[in-house]
Amino acid sequence: MIACIDQTLDRIYTLNVGAVGHGAERHERPHKALLLLAVLDLLDAGQATPDRIPWGAPLRERFSLYFAKVRLRDDRDTPENPFRYLASDGFWETYRITLAGPVPYEGEVLVRDSGTLFARLVDGVDLVAADANLRHRLRQALVARYFPNAAKQLIEPIDMVSSEDDDEALEVPGRNAGFRRKILEVYDHQCVACGLRIKLPVHEACYVDAAHLIPFAESANDHPTNGIALCKNHHWAMDRHLIAPTPAGVWKVSRVLIGHRSTGEAELVRLADHPVLPPTDDAYRPDPAAMQWRVERLIA
Ligand SMILES: [Zn+2]
Repeated sequence: MIACIDQTLDRIYTLNVGAVGHGAERHERPHKALLLLAVLDLLDAGQATPDRIPWGAPLRERFSLYFAKVRLRDDRDTPENPFRYLASDGFWETYRITLAGPVPYEGEVLVRDSGTLFARLVDGVDLVAADANLRHRLRQALVARYFPNAAKQLIEPIDMVSSEDDDEALEVPGRNAGFRRKILEVYDHQCVACGLRIKLPVHEACYVDAAHLIPFAESANDHPTNGIALCKNHHWAMDRHLIAPTPAGVWKVSRVLIGHRSTGEAELVRLADHPVLPPTDDAYRPDPAAMQWRVERLIA
């Protein structure tokens, strides 16, 4: 079961959502994550079971409700596409009920298909989704990863677990692994300070870490814009507030570092004013406010 949870969380963190727009407008599409939140609601309410999630008004209405809270720019309120394409992320299979029984269906989804079209959770996701407490973890993971700034609106109305339990639930390995995998993908396994990239084929060994800008314990924010890829050295230095990425896109270095004291310190001092290497997709550029958070904590 633990393996199923980790795998499901990993899939949530790395949903193939697609990004749209250009420059500062660029952002991830919210649809798949929102549809999953709506599905969790239906399961909670007994309006769906893991092997029978109806494509119908209750699901679309929940989707629209959430959509109104998090929509960005030209996003459109269309649950049809995520209902169809979540199959490719390993969450479910879609099927039609016909006179001859259930028949697999992978075609276009239309509103008028209500009542005949269904989804069936698969591959361990079904086991996780059958458990109310685990569903709560999935909900928290979806919000932390995709909608950290809307956590209050998206979780509070249906929150049944005490805050103490929340912290524990968020500390599952699958959460960290999912964040790490997404950040390494976004930065192509490269340290954004020194440019170092070491990725060995064996066991997917990688020298580069995924570092939160504002720590998760403080922000509950696993959106990739709250993270950067750093090698072990620069991760260590940032965590100790010796170096910080600035909203201007360059590194700032603490004055406690003295270059002539050691070659290690000299390396860190040389980082000053060097660019923070950008992600491979503008949709994941580090949040300026989160970088400012780092700058303010730099040891004076
Ligand atoms: Zn580095």
